[in-house]
Amino acid sequence: MRGVVMDKTESFRKYFREEYVPRDAGPRFLYITNGRLYIRVVFAIILTLCVGLASQVDFRPHHLPLFFLYFVIANLVEYWIHRYPMHRKMPLLGFMFEHVTIHHAIFDRDKNLIEDDRDLMGVFLPILYLFSISAGAVVGSLPLFILFGSSEGYFFLFVCAVYYLLYEVLHYSYHCRDDSLFRFVPFSKSLGVNHLIHHRRELMSKVNFNITFPLFDHLFGTKHNPSHLPRDRSEP
Ligand SMILES: [Zn+2]
Ligand SMILES: [Zn+2]
Repeated sequence: MRGVVMDKTESFRKYFREEYVPRDAGPRFLYITNGRLYIRVVFAIILTLCVGLASQVDFRPHHLPLFFLYFVIANLVEYWIHRYPMHRKMPLLGFMFEHVTIHHAIFDRDKNLIEDDRDLMGVFLPILYLFSISAGAVVGSLPLFILFGSSEGYFFLFVCAVYYLLYEVLHYSYHCRDDSLFRFVPFSKSLGVNHLIHHRRELMSKVNFNITFPLFDHLFGTKHNPSHLPRDRSEP
């Protein structure tokens, strides 16, 4: 059975690299078909957002506890998006279901590391996600702009941008090869175990929906205990 799943994953990877990326990636990836260039562009956009938003904030001591509060809210949003629209087809958010049809099709329990630069397009989110999540964050920030002023609104958006960057960096670190510098990202090893368990097809709709810190997996009882399973990376 595992052999059949591996063949299915390998044949999808071949299709993804040779047909999907050059032909179908399109505007969702800004018409970029080079994986390394795409992730550089994504990092450049997010870092520009972080710096631009930070420049609009009048940083004060109360922003420290607010940072943690907004971080927890972002962690809940990450959990909800991954548990629901990314794993169940939902109206208006149907495009997010490609997380199952592409990301989980490229990376399963036996093959969960990047082996080709084109695989990067299956790890980093299409730019449509950044636009959609940014639109949601802007709507969420409106009460802060109205009630507390622009600095507070921009601070909320700044934390959202930092969280998005954290998500992309950590998720990439879980799937990158052992010789990548991203494997040294703090918490990558322990958090990666959670995520790679989620990549087991029999578990992907049930456990480990937080991709960064598993706060809401613990709260909602969807955290899988890794000690119940053999380690992914050491398996033959
Ligand atoms: Zn993944
Ligand atoms: Zn998933």
